[in-house]
Amino acid sequence: MRLTTPPTTVFTRMSALAQETGAINLGQGFPDAEHAPELIAMAQRALAEHSQQYPPMRGLAELRQAVCDFYRREQGLALTPEHVVVTSGATEALAASILAFVQPGDEVVLLQPCYDAYVPLVERAGGAVRMVSLSPPDWSIPFDALEAAITPATRMIVACTPNNPTSTLIPRAALERLGALCEAHDLVLLCDEVWEAMIFTGDAHCSPLHLAGLRDRSIKVGSAGKLFSLTGWKLGWALAAPPLAAMIAGQHQWLTFTSAVPLQWAVAEGLALPPEWHASHRATYAPRRQQLIDGLEAAGFAVLPSAGSWFVSMDLAASGLPADDEMVAERLLREAGVATIPLSAFYRDGADKGYLRLCFAKQEAVLDDAVERLAGFRRGL
Ligand code: PMP
Ligand code: GLN
Repeated sequence: MRLTTPPTTVFTRMSALAQETGAINLGQGFPDAEHAPELIAMAQRALAEHSQQYPPMRGLAELRQAVCDFYRREQGLALTPEHVVVTSGATEALAASILAFVQPGDEVVLLQPCYDAYVPLVERAGGAVRMVSLSPPDWSIPFDALEAAITPATRMIVACTPNNPTSTLIPRAALERLGALCEAHDLVLLCDEVWEAMIFTGDAHCSPLHLAGLRDRSIKVGSAGKLFSLTGWKLGWALAAPPLAAMIAGQHQWLTFTSAVPLQWAVAEGLALPPEWHASHRATYAPRRQQLIDGLEAAGFAVLPSAGSWFVSMDLAASGLPADDEMVAERLLREAGVATIPLSAFYRDGADKGYLRLCFAKQEAVLDDAVERLAGFRRGL
């Protein structure tokens, strides 16, 4: 028997190295403090008070309704429970969506740098990836290259806004252009919106589900792990027009069938918390983000413009460092004691090696310490 183990993800690798070396972990995106004690209490109550047996395959009716109410209130979207498939994290929503629409031999256009799960999921579905590179420093979509990547075999485009790892938004006008392409070539747009609640520029989140031309051919993916800073809960959803949602549910039933029921009750209750709760949860991250940006800039590092997510990126060449992100990440880990993520890990080919991603969802003192270590490293060059 020949066994080939897939490589572990860059997040797993960097977190393990951080633990091994005692480095501050600004790599994998997770908060280092609990932010939503209300949700923990809700989950505890759900364990005590509700049935622990299988919930419905598509998710509890109460949760599916709560998802619709939440997005009506927060984003002005008109959804019904028939639009909702509750999944085990956004990761399963992505997998079920790709399996639903990508058959062997189909092509899928991805925009790199992109979240690490997209390529393997498309390829395991038997699809072929066509990569289009976003253009730094604003990481805008090069529409000529995108159009050239579409062939008669193309079935889907995958987008992410706010984007991980670039932290930028897809502006409404660009979504409209994507919509025109999807209509012209009869494509599905899979839009990963797990960072939708973490926008720090005052911009409203814009989803393809907001646009008439995309509403019936787009899938919006969300994650309770991100909305409540509980990344280990792994509860998410795919939202799409009912005929598309039914196709996704058809795959979800073979992947996991359904997801942990106490967490479904808790998330249903959590989504119904008043808008002020959600706004103040979001607001806790804004000063941390500014602290990291200011600290890095004061130490002479060049930070790229960003809008959302828990990450910011550093431009290595503009920071006076070699444009070799893996080498710099390795040195920062070993010599400065700070773990980061090289952006080249989000490329399949033609990797741009000029950038590092840093996570600011950390306590104030931890960020101070990290910035001091990075500043010391830079002074020592
Ligand atoms: N998509 C993106 C862009 C992400 O950043 C993440 C996790 N950070 C996921 C999907 C996975 O989300 P979940 O943990 O809910 O599966
Ligand atoms: N999405 C998280 C990040 O971008 C990591 C998730 C994971 O470890 N797979 O850092």
